[in-house]
Amino acid sequence: MNDTPLAGPQTRPNEVRAAEGTELRCLGWRQEGILRMLENTIANGERPEDLIIYGSTGQAARNWESYHAIVHQLKNLKDDETLVMQSGKPVAVFRSHTGAPRVMAATSNLVPRHANREEFDRLREEGLTIHGQYTAASWAYIGSQGIMQGTYETFGACAQKFLDGDFTGKIALTGGLGGMGSAQPPAVSMNGGVALVAEIDPARIARRLDTGHLDAAFDTLEEAWAQCRAQADRGEPGAYAICANAADVCEHFAESDDKPACVTDQTSAHNLLFGYVPSGLTIEEARALRESDPDTYLERSKDTVCRHVRAMLKLQSQGVPVFEYGNDLRGAAFDSGVTDAFDVPSFMPLFIRPSFARGRGPVRWVLLSGDVKDQQVADQAAMELFPDDVLLNTWLKLAPERVPIEGLPARTCWLEYGARRKMMRRLNDLVASGEISAPIAVTRDHLDSGATAFPRRETEGMPDGSDAIGDWPYLNAMLNVAGGADMVAIHQNGGDIGGSISAGMTVILDGKPETADRIDRVFTTDPGIGVIRHADAGVPEAEAFLKQSDIRGGLV
Ligand code: NAD
Repeated sequence: MNDTPLAGPQTRPNEVRAAEGTELRCLGWRQEGILRMLENTIANGERPEDLIIYGSTGQAARNWESYHAIVHQLKNLKDDETLVMQSGKPVAVFRSHTGAPRVMAATSNLVPRHANREEFDRLREEGLTIHGQYTAASWAYIGSQGIMQGTYETFGACAQKFLDGDFTGKIALTGGLGGMGSAQPPAVSMNGGVALVAEIDPARIARRLDTGHLDAAFDTLEEAWAQCRAQADRGEPGAYAICANAADVCEHFAESDDKPACVTDQTSAHNLLFGYVPSGLTIEEARALRESDPDTYLERSKDTVCRHVRAMLKLQSQGVPVFEYGNDLRGAAFDSGVTDAFDVPSFMPLFIRPSFARGRGPVRWVLLSGDVKDQQVADQAAMELFPDDVLLNTWLKLAPERVPIEGLPARTCWLEYGARRKMMRRLNDLVASGEISAPIAVTRDHLDSGATAFPRRETEGMPDGSDAIGDWPYLNAMLNVAGGADMVAIHQNGGDIGGSISAGMTVILDGKPETADRIDRVFTTDPGIGVIRHADAGVPEAEAFLKQSDIRGGLV
């Protein structure tokens, strides 16, 4: 055990910002890179003053004392040491070895029989755990830059499947402009369509107008719809918000002759008390009721979520494509008595599984220099390496002008199994040669090929019924430790507590030759175990891919 004390200075900063440039504050770039990722996560958060990052209560550190202790430890961490994080609190530094992770984190994990909302809230209130979401406590949050390409891909796939391959002239209705949901309007407009997003919090709308995620916002549905219709009829893309409750808006369209071309939702329905807002309340009234009478709040939330899903089901029966977008909206309604809630399909098997089955998924590189020029060099490298990947090239041409930079410049790209390794090797070379001015952090969402077991999302409807098998994310995390990722995290999460198990990882590309070996290991096994997981379940795309890949799987 290291003898450095685990507590650092105790003052709370007014503002956390990710350091930029080439100056090191830590003993090596692997530690510095992780520190910048932590700072960047907080800087991009929805309520940084409370260390709340996204997904209603997703948190980056236990409290400010823990934050300062983490910073202190990272600054003093040697190249052969590993910092251990327990639900946002640094608990130890051990001597490991240079090829081992510099940070390992376990967050929000409860013993299965005790993994329920009441027990979790009790432990959280006691200060013993935090809700780590996916990328909050694994320090890989990059604002909506992270989810943007996945959202772009999802709406693109939706157009392919349901809208004759083209979003032009069509309106997508959705809800929620939070950390993740705000990627929806630009993603729809990048596909050529018009997005109408119902959001109850005017401050969130104002923020997304400022950041360029939205073109305009309206207070009445009539005005909003008229604008969307006019824009769509001209065949032009658009991104609009209506300040309203998403359930009310869905009900309106279920009864009206006006119909959107598709309907989904990304309000924080996974948390009916702290995330989702009941109908009939402004955001201030909702906050006051949550504080004064949480039981009534919860009852009203349940009532609204049921109305919300019933309206989506009605729209579906009228021929409008509807899908759940990973926020457990259906689960929340089902638990409150909407027995056919799961007739609304999930975006995962509909649009994403065929990619995950062959190890294709969202990697993102974060330019630790903070220099947009470095981002341009990295984008160019990706286009040169994969000239035949049409989706990737379209995305990389649109992204620089359409994806607002939040904090450190970052780019998310969905890369195939072998392409991940190839791209990371190239980026490491560009750092080594100085063409990129400082190291790069490469990370990914937990929402990836082999990283998550979540029966109501990532693993819903697996062909062999193995949706709730939780072994795979543990295997993923262990393989990433063995491969030498710089940060490895294992979380429980998923709608309500106990809903999922997932693993995250980050690798710092510092340009060193030994990093190339770690790249080869991690970017092979990380997507590789995903291919295995899907092939094992009998997903046809994975079985076919496994036969022609270099992965030695399918052993029995
Ligand atoms: P967030 O808490 O930052 O934002 C949620 C937004 O919804 C807030 O702005 C809130 O004001 C608004 N809202 C809540 N109830 C509303 C209602 N009834 N009507 C209108 N607006 C309402 O959450 P986020 O990070 O944007 O995530 C949104 C949801 O998506 C979460 O449930 C999260 O778990 C899920 N999620 C999905 C994916 C995916 O891959 N699809 C990825 C990450 C998160």
